[in-house]
Amino acid sequence: MGSSDTTGPHAGDVGSIESWLVSAGRDRRPGAPLNVSPCPASNFVLGGQRAYARDDGTRSWDALEEIVGGLEGGSSVAFASGMAAITAIFDQLPTGATVALPDDCYQGVAGLANAGQSRGRWSVHRIAVADTASWIQACAESDLIWLESPSNPLLVVAELETICAAPRKPCAILGVDNTFATPLNQRPLALGADVAVESVTKFIGGHSDLLGGVITVRDSALLAALRQARELAGATPGTLETFLAVRGARTLAVRLERAQRNAMVLAERLADHPEVLITRYPGLASHATHKAARRQLKGFGTIISFDIRGGAEAADAVCARLRLIQHATSLGAVESTIERRASVPGQEHLPPSLLRLSVGIEAVEDLWADLDRALRVAVEV
Ligand SMILES: *Cc1c(COP(=O)(O)O)cnc(C)c1O
Repeated sequence: MGSSDTTGPHAGDVGSIESWLVSAGRDRRPGAPLNVSPCPASNFVLGGQRAYARDDGTRSWDALEEIVGGLEGGSSVAFASGMAAITAIFDQLPTGATVALPDDCYQGVAGLANAGQSRGRWSVHRIAVADTASWIQACAESDLIWLESPSNPLLVVAELETICAAPRKPCAILGVDNTFATPLNQRPLALGADVAVESVTKFIGGHSDLLGGVITVRDSALLAALRQARELAGATPGTLETFLAVRGARTLAVRLERAQRNAMVLAERLADHPEVLITRYPGLASHATHKAARRQLKGFGTIISFDIRGGAEAADAVCARLRLIQHATSLGAVESTIERRASVPGQEHLPPSLLRLSVGIEAVEDLWADLDRALRVAVEV
């Protein structure tokens, strides 16, 4: 990327990330409401800063972009969903481009990459998340290096520090899907990535009540191209969704801290549970990429993937018997959710009994009682 750097106000301006989350993206004019109100508008009276919302955005998009841009250390573009954001990045590629993609990654991104490959738009090369040498080689050869760390759902941590510092092919884009880590645990742009992406649907929104996505970059030409991609595709975020996302972001730090603490306790107990075969959590010393996690991540996250005895049937029975933990897909919300991932289309290759648990902010002993009871009952079926 050859053009100039773009970074707006950032978290350091108010001290810490926690204070930034609470204070950024506000209107400071005397008499203005403390929170930017939802702005249901398609068009504006001509002669002002905005004419048409798809092109010029609304004030509530600005608030979300300011908050996330400040966290990631760049300039952000908000989209209608995480997938809309990621599609805008793939759209930057010239026809015939090469894409390096993790072997374990969000199934929507794998679907997007495969669909483009089968149309002859680009070719895709899958690389094991922890195979750093192959990623370094991919940096020299690929037009898009797409990383996801920790990965979904196997929670493998990529050596981002090393990969982001590797020499890249001219004009290549290195992007990191930062949804699982959140900008509180990991800041890819500071490590040298060109692009950081979050599905706002997950931790930033945090309440399972919206779809949204955001991209953060430092390069001004890439920023302009991504804004244009949003405008032309019409992949614009809704005004109510961005309002809710900003409201969610205010509590992100406290939600994450609490949920991560819960997750560590549950991961340790699951690892010792007689009905559990494998527990994958980056915070466990037994985790294959625990060392990289310790080096790179401020916190180990809130997602645990574990396989149980008894195969798919037992795992489905656990989901059906839980009372506090919600049987639902998605992650990063205040409420804990669980899903047997191999039941998701495109995820059939996963171990049949793998349960992906997104730990919420409930009382940890209640969560454990719910899990333990469901695990014990399920294996009797
Ligand atoms: C959910 C998710 C996405 C897609 O986000 P949407 O908001 O559902 O479009 C992308 N990457 C990861 C890691 C996700 O968990």
